[in-house]
Amino acid sequence: MADELCSALRAYRSVKAGATTATGSPSEQTELLERAVRGAPWKAFHPARRVTADGCIEIVQDLNTLASCTALLRQSSVVGVDVERHQLQSFSGYNCLVQLSTALDGGRVFLVDCIKLPKADVAAALSEILSRSDILKVFHAAQNDVKWLEQDFGIQTSPVLDTQTLTRKLSFPFSKLTDQWSALCNLRVPRALKQRLQLSDWTRRPLAPLQAIYAGADAYQLLPIAGRLLYTLRALDRESEGWGREVREPPPTHYLLADVDADPDCPAWMPDFEVLKSCQIEEGSCLWHELVAVEKASREVVASGGAGAGLRRAARLAPDIAAEHVEALAVWRLRKAEGQDVSPQWLVPDELLLRALAAKSSEEAELALRSTIPRAGPECPEFSGLEGDMEQVASQAHLDDSQQASLLCLLRFAREGLPLGIPGVSDSKAEMPGSKNCHASWWLPFRTAADFQQAVAKLPEIQRERVMQEPLRKRARFLSFIHRVAAKRPVYENCQILAPDGQVLCTVDTKKLHWYVRRGLGKFEPGQEDCIRLLFEPAGRFGIASGDSLGRASGPGYAGGRPSQDSTDGGDRQQQMEQREKFYTSVKENRCVRCGADMHLARYNIVPSCLRSFLPLTHQPGSHDVLLLCVPCHHKASLEHGQRIKEVLASGVGLHLTKPASSSPGDPRNASRMSALGMIKGGDSIPWERVQTVFQRILEIWEDAEALGEGEKEDDESYGEFCAKMERSAPELLLSLRSRWPTSALRVLWRASQWRGDAGGSNSREPLERRRGHGPRWELEAGEKIVQAWTKSGADPSELICRCRVHFLEALKPKFLPAHWDVDHKVAVRSSDLRPGATSNDDQ
Ligand SMILES: [Zn+2]
Repeated sequence: MADELCSALRAYRSVKAGATTATGSPSEQTELLERAVRGAPWKAFHPARRVTADGCIEIVQDLNTLASCTALLRQSSVVGVDVERHQLQSFSGYNCLVQLSTALDGGRVFLVDCIKLPKADVAAALSEILSRSDILKVFHAAQNDVKWLEQDFGIQTSPVLDTQTLTRKLSFPFSKLTDQWSALCNLRVPRALKQRLQLSDWTRRPLAPLQAIYAGADAYQLLPIAGRLLYTLRALDRESEGWGREVREPPPTHYLLADVDADPDCPAWMPDFEVLKSCQIEEGSCLWHELVAVEKASREVVASGGAGAGLRRAARLAPDIAAEHVEALAVWRLRKAEGQDVSPQWLVPDELLLRALAAKSSEEAELALRSTIPRAGPECPEFSGLEGDMEQVASQAHLDDSQQASLLCLLRFAREGLPLGIPGVSDSKAEMPGSKNCHASWWLPFRTAADFQQAVAKLPEIQRERVMQEPLRKRARFLSFIHRVAAKRPVYENCQILAPDGQVLCTVDTKKLHWYVRRGLGKFEPGQEDCIRLLFEPAGRFGIASGDSLGRASGPGYAGGRPSQDSTDGGDRQQQMEQREKFYTSVKENRCVRCGADMHLARYNIVPSCLRSFLPLTHQPGSHDVLLLCVPCHHKASLEHGQRIKEVLASGVGLHLTKPASSSPGDPRNASRMSALGMIKGGDSIPWERVQTVFQRILEIWEDAEALGEGEKEDDESYGEFCAKMERSAPELLLSLRSRWPTSALRVLWRASQWRGDAGGSNSREPLERRRGHGPRWELEAGEKIVQAWTKSGADPSELICRCRVHFLEALKPKFLPAHWDVDHKVAVRSSDLRPGATSNDDQ
């Protein structure tokens, strides 16, 4: 035997002489594999415990557990390895879990959490195990896992035994992993369940219990599978004596999920002699010879062009589609996906791209791109625990408008038989491929991508579309902004205030009701919690003072919007009174006045605060001029109305409103302050990779700033508080930061977060008493000038308010304005002593 082996190895080496791999020449590799397999005892492949037994699976999420995991694995001669990776919403993908199993300690499998743990620590711990030559690493389909371990952690895994290749070499009749689990380990798992779990969202934390069991089993069962196949190989080679005993008795049947039956066509458990019988091996081959082949095959590089391979394969089935078009589209998609840091499948799934390519018109193609691929079958009950889980399969395209337009253009060229010539068609200023922005944690501040997806799914259609319009890197932040800014309770509560005579005066919120009741100014109507009656006669009703004669347009009770046009006609007064009554007493709906959405609403002031601050107290806009908008519409309104109206009004009085350059939003310290605040807020949930990138940037700014003597006014008390707070809220982040940047990390983070520049408006050097309203100083100054100029020209200040309303209507085209809302609504004058009766109409 020894001679046979040596000659086989010599023959193999002579063939491969000259060829080298990254980890050394093939001969070294095969020698390593040979030594590791020979050195591994039979029992190292046969853990005693079942994977579903207590204490078998351990999730490794802190450094202590990682250390004890490495300590145990270090003593093992065989380790099963598997990797779960996220590949959909990331261009190059990233490892989420690395599972490592050992037969020591009764059988253990560790799920190393690559998202929670600092990357450097994972890399160091894994590298020690995976590159040690005296530990045999068993994989199933090793190529990808080995590649990913190198890509993410720089680890060269060796020596590697690939059970998939070994199975093929032996012509073992079952190549599917679930079949092998059943035939060799007596573990029953329905294929559909395994498939679903394989594609489940591995970024989710905590893992669903089912995910943990599956991930554990994947690595754990590799040990007995490899052990039993090696036994067969040794027996074929008559080398088994002295290695271990033959497996004749089936281990107890076990299930990944106790109450789910396995597929009826799952193969039955096979004793060793049956396995041996079912295997075939070429005449004249020997164990070591076969291992050499296994070793070699497992190192073959995965065929390149993987990203478009499925697309090309599928396209071959459609004879009408030209291969060159498929090629061009695959390249286009790859570039866009890279620029956006998502997988090509996420951008446009193969199926939809082919449908669009087969379409006969642009309309049809667009329809195809907008369609959804139905999921196969309903969610089975056994998948419970994965609810809301985003499968790593895209069922729809995720193209933004410009991408969709350029894709439709390419498809039209294809239909017309024009060459697509991709290098030229790329819209050059769009995402440049190769710009390696790290978007791996684009879902922050959400905990995981799945959390973000769930939150998006809950949005009303129109808001969802709006969020998805943002580039990927901004989406999650925009959604979190929506959550943060939106009113937490219904804005309109539609409680009523009655005059002593029982007339409804207005609708307000409960807070206001209690305000009156507490002060003894009103009391609840019997049996009602949302209606009070005033105990005093208000000075006026609906913003019009009682006994007001309409000639006194700007008297104490009433300010006419357009005094010159106010007639003294009593009928007019009556009409106005009715109109105002209708407005103030009508039920107000909690929905966006622009799009009608009823979620994530925020109050919007039609009159910008820089104007309100300088309008006379007698002419302040009231509840009529505060409308509800959903946050996305609010955002749009502040850009297209809030900003614009200031410019329009300013130019109306001959002012030029330009943001002074001195407010330097480009000051890098502003950006670093935002990053620092984000990091403090995200705490332990931020992946270490991201922390390093962001903190490096902060550090660059603050190392300079320190040199310039910035941040002199150190306040050690508040720094101490900051440290204590971080210890509580983000202990892991703190630990990692301190171990990476021992001397400066925390102080730099604190200093950056404390930076108060004068950009963004709050000029700290401005004495507080001089500031009115809020917003940048230049804006307030402009507001003051506008109002002054307006008053000086003799125009009524109320007219300014009307202008704001008109502009709002033009810019936003709201379709859901409150009933009886009116551009000419007259401003209710607040008398200077602010008696409740006079203000009650404006308290919504
Ligand atoms: Zn809206």
